[in-house]
This record gives sequence, structure tokens and C-alpha cells, in this order.
Amino acid sequence: MKNIIFIAPPGAGKGTQAKMVSEKYGIPHISTGDLLRDERNSGSELSEMLKQEMDKGNLIDDNIIVHLLRERLNKVDCNNGYILDGYPRSVLQSKIYEDLLLELNKEIGIVIYMDIDKDLALERTLSRLICSSCGASYSSASLELKPKIDGICDRCGHMLRVRGDDNPEVFSNRFDTYLRETKPLIDYYNSLGILKTITVLKNDTAQDVFNKIEQFLK
Ligand code: AMP
Repeated sequence: MKNIIFIAPPGAGKGTQAKMVSEKYGIPHISTGDLLRDERNSGSELSEMLKQEMDKGNLIDDNIIVHLLRERLNKVDCNNGYILDGYPRSVLQSKIYEDLLLELNKEIGIVIYMDIDKDLALERTLSRLICSSCGASYSSASLELKPKIDGICDRCGHMLRVRGDDNPEVFSNRFDTYLRETKPLIDYYNSLGILKTITVLKNDTAQDVFNKIEQFLK
């Protein structure tokens, strides 16, 4: 399996899709947001700074991310392909990532770009619930992604909560950051001939979106 980069604005459902691809194709799902949340919750010297910046929706320093990513990509489960969710998020990060790939002797693979209208992305962001223990993600607005029991994680039985950065103000900052920093990557990957675009529509279920993505994986 080729390595896959997912690029999408907040609220497009890239975490959900990356997880579905990971489960079906048996390759790890590596989310830099999750790597940072683990570091933030570890009580390390970076914890407080990460909490403040992530709660505002600001991007975290490139050196911190590349350090966490190098450690993760060096693990043996990445040898047969992996899915990157949330990285690279800027043109500078794409250059840093290319150096890392050279260092680790890995290929860039393909880039899946999930396009979505801003209002729809906001609506979906505000309905997201995550498990306070295992991090599983749910949506109160989707029959398919609702937990079986309201407020309780299907996977581990812990309480669900709203993520600290899922509110209209922080969404707006994250969306603007996406347009400014991440969107230029689309042209760059298109010029390399590795960009695959799908559009997320209002009535699409997670399975509908997955079907659109799968046409590029077969
Ligand atoms: P996510 O889970 O992808 O929505 O990311 C949550 C937060 O983690 C972002 O709003 C950023 O603060 C931080 N973050 C995740 N990935 C990156 C990245 N590649 N570069 C900088 N900050 C990141």
C-alpha cells in the first residue's frame, strides 16, 4: 500500500476517513493532532504550552512535530504504508517532510484532498463528540456516527465530551489558518501529479465519502 496524506479543512471528517482506510487496508493512522494531544496529556515540559496553543487553534512549532513524527514513522508498523492525518499543514512542513522521507528512505505516496464548504464544515465541527479516555470520535448529528448510548463511548464505556477547540471562534481561527497555510499545498501536490480530490456534500454519510476515497486506493 502507498503512503497516504490526508488534507482537509477542520470539520471535513478526515480523522473518521483516515480511521476507516486504516481499518480496511491494515495500515496505521497517524494523526499529528493525536500525537500532540498525547504529548500534552503526558505532563511533559511541553504540556502547558501545547494546551494553550492547541486550545486557540494555533499551529504548533515545526520542530516539535517533526520530532514526534520521526519517532512514530520509525516504528515497524509503518513499513508497509501509513496514513498521515493533519500533516503536512503548510508548504514549509511539506519541505521538512520531504527531507524526513529521504532520511527514512520512504516514498511520499498519494495525497487525498477532501474539499468541503465552510458552513457545512462548521456544522459538522459543532456536532463532534470525543471520548475523554480513548479519543474515539462521534457525531451527534449523524445516525451513522452517533454513540449507541447518548454521551457514552461505544468502544470503552467512558464519557464523551466536546473537544476544547470545537467552538465557533476557534473553528474560525482554524479555518483561516487552513486557508492561509494549508490550502497552498493543494497546488503544490497537484503540480507533483499526486493529488486526488473528493468533495464532501451535505447529505454524504461517512460510507459515501469512504466510497469516493476508495476509487483512488484500488
Ligand atoms: P487536529 O486534530 O488535526 O485538528 O489538530 C489539532 C491541533 O493540533 C491543531 O489545531 C494544531 O494546534 C495542532 N496541530 C496538529 N497537526 C499540526 C501540524 N501539522 N502543524 C502544527 N500544528 C498542528
